[in-house]
Amino acid sequence: MNLNKRPGLAVVVSSPSGTGKTTICHRLIDSHEDYIYSISATTRKPRGEEVDGVDYMFMTEPEFEKAKDSNEFIEHACYVNNWYATPKAPLRASIAEGKVVMLDIDIQGGKSIKKQLPESITIFILPPSLEELKNRLKGRNTDSDNIINERLDTAIHELNVWNEYDYVVVNDDLDDAVAEVDSIINVERLKTNRLNDKDYWNKSLSKLLGLT
Ligand code: ADP
Ligand code: 5GP
Repeated sequence: MNLNKRPGLAVVVSSPSGTGKTTICHRLIDSHEDYIYSISATTRKPRGEEVDGVDYMFMTEPEFEKAKDSNEFIEHACYVNNWYATPKAPLRASIAEGKVVMLDIDIQGGKSIKKQLPESITIFILPPSLEELKNRLKGRNTDSDNIINERLDTAIHELNVWNEYDYVVVNDDLDDAVAEVDSIINVERLKTNRLNDKDYWNKSLSKLLGLT
């Protein structure tokens, strides 16, 4: 019996591309054993040092279609001409194991996850300014000017949905943003209504009180 045992949780982190959500998710995963990354499927080509099966499951369009038709995805969306999707089985299994699953996904995906898994939490990350967002997209050095401009156009529309998320965090100083996201997750995992194994808790408490 361990009263420190905490429930699994799906954490959707969305933001306009280039804001820093992937960086924030990886920082948290690197510093917590029980946090993992939800590896999405995509038809986008690998970028920079991205590794298949680690950053994404890179698929051809026919492979993606086949997986979609076999109902392997909990959600899927098109983002700037490429398909992206969250595999269903690993997500559910990891939550059941007590893991915090970080879902670095776009706004359409965030909304679908919340609909299908209402107990998930959604966090919207804002850039400190559009100018800084442009600098980050350019500084990442992974996309052509055309793609950067498309992503910036998409960003301007996406910024309007911040208030549909449970939480909003501004990624100005990276350490502060990581700490804020971590606090949100910690607080959510302390909520009594998330302790779905009530028997386990009642038994643990009885033991603590010397009643068993
Ligand atoms: P996203 O996943 O939202 O598309 P990334 O995590 O890839 O964004 O970050 C985009 C770029 O911005 C990366 O080069 C990253 O190192 C940089 N970055 C992230 N957060 C910050 C920050 N707080 N300050 C400065 N640069 C940042
Ligand atoms: P990128 O090409 O920069 O890796 O991702 C482009 C956008 O697709 C980002 O907003 C990213 O969060 C989103 N994305 C990545 N994986 C998924 C996914 O599984 N589902 C959805 N809906 N969006 C995703």
